[in-house]
Amino acid sequence: MKLDFLGATEEVTGSKFLLTSHKGTKILLDCGMYQGKGLETDGMNRDLGFDPKEVDFLLLSHAHIDHSGLIPYIYKLGFRGKVFCTPATRDLCAIMLADSGRIQEADAKQFNKKKDRVGKEPIEPIYTEKDAAECMSLFISIPRDLTFNITPDISIQFIETGHMLGSGAVYITFKEGRKTRTLCYTGDVGRYDKRILPDPEPFPYADYIITESTYGDRLHSTLDDADQQLMLVVRDACAKRLGKLLIPSFAIGRTQEIVYALHRLNKAGDLPDIEIFVDSPLACSATNIYRLHDENFNADLRQFMENTKDPFGFDNLTYVRTIDDSKRLNEYNRPCIIISASGMMEAGRIKHHLANNIENPKTTILCVGYCSPNTLGAKIMRGDPVVSIFGEDHQVRAHLERIDAYSGHGDYQELIRYLSCQKGNRRLKKIFIVHGEEGVRQAYAEHLAEAGFKKTHVPMFRETIELS
Ligand SMILES: [Zn+2]
Repeated sequence: MKLDFLGATEEVTGSKFLLTSHKGTKILLDCGMYQGKGLETDGMNRDLGFDPKEVDFLLLSHAHIDHSGLIPYIYKLGFRGKVFCTPATRDLCAIMLADSGRIQEADAKQFNKKKDRVGKEPIEPIYTEKDAAECMSLFISIPRDLTFNITPDISIQFIETGHMLGSGAVYITFKEGRKTRTLCYTGDVGRYDKRILPDPEPFPYADYIITESTYGDRLHSTLDDADQQLMLVVRDACAKRLGKLLIPSFAIGRTQEIVYALHRLNKAGDLPDIEIFVDSPLACSATNIYRLHDENFNADLRQFMENTKDPFGFDNLTYVRTIDDSKRLNEYNRPCIIISASGMMEAGRIKHHLANNIENPKTTILCVGYCSPNTLGAKIMRGDPVVSIFGEDHQVRAHLERIDAYSGHGDYQELIRYLSCQKGNRRLKKIFIVHGEEGVRQAYAEHLAEAGFKKTHVPMFRETIELS
């Protein structure tokens, strides 16, 4: 059996790993898009390192674009194998890939319009919304924890990782004659004691593990602190400064977490009497998928729902879908909270709210997620006095706040706690550490060694390893 590392080796995006069985069955683990490096990313995304027509199966750990975003592209290039994932992952992919297709089309259009492009060949979007819609016909969802044979010799199982709605580690069992071999690809691993999703669950002993290391060198603060901090920020922004509180947030996952946190604070009487707006069509659709897939919720949330039916809806909360309603928020002059995408402030409606409010000292901007260097979010949060939004310079006079604990990824202690289910596993041959920035994977390997896991390997981009 052979394993090719085709992405997310020296960075945290572009997850792609190709397994080839002794009989030649080709299984792709995730097919993620590289993100955040401008034009360079486009070339990296188009150069796959494998022929999509030869791939038999794609096993998808979760719906984030850096894990699923190239599925429409490989479909366009002739991939017609089956995509296996959990039901919530399939439903989220339907809206996320379509959204990504729209972004690819808009980016290509904008690029082709640039003046210095006159006379040059126009670029094609890597894929379109139509490709994204069509590739969904390949998706087959299987419930979490069910062992499912994809061939007579190969079975798979998705096991909860608590990272996003529907996320699951892929546990694969290969039969080769009398020999049985197992591999667990963890995908992304969430935090413990979260508000909506369950904890990551232990998986059976495996011969090989491929695991992430996003925060392999860091520790997070607790979520209890985060809720307390959120309450204080809302009070300060809306009751003391009497301004708008802008919360740039990823439409899927982080938005629902913030809404539910605000719901609990509101119910406890801890918030001032203000309106809350979720201004993102994608977040509206995603919230409906959350409501549909309550089988993924943790016990605490289920208990909350015994008395309060909808955790993502309450009296003073409004979901804003249309552009006209979004524009109307500009004229809303009372203190309020506006939650809007994108989280890194690079795209989406949050840019309009920033352009309209960033020069007002009454405004507060609360960052609740990671911003890649060079994004508008990173520039604002590092304290640049002037930022460019839609080509115009704006003075940053708004008050800035940050809460880091709402992370979708576990810190190194949580990642090690997750792998503690493999303590005493004598079959374990290697843990491959992927999905980490330069230096972080090595730091995580050292933490793992201290915890007793010494058989680690930090693979290089396009490295091929023979699994004995
Ligand atoms: Zn993810």
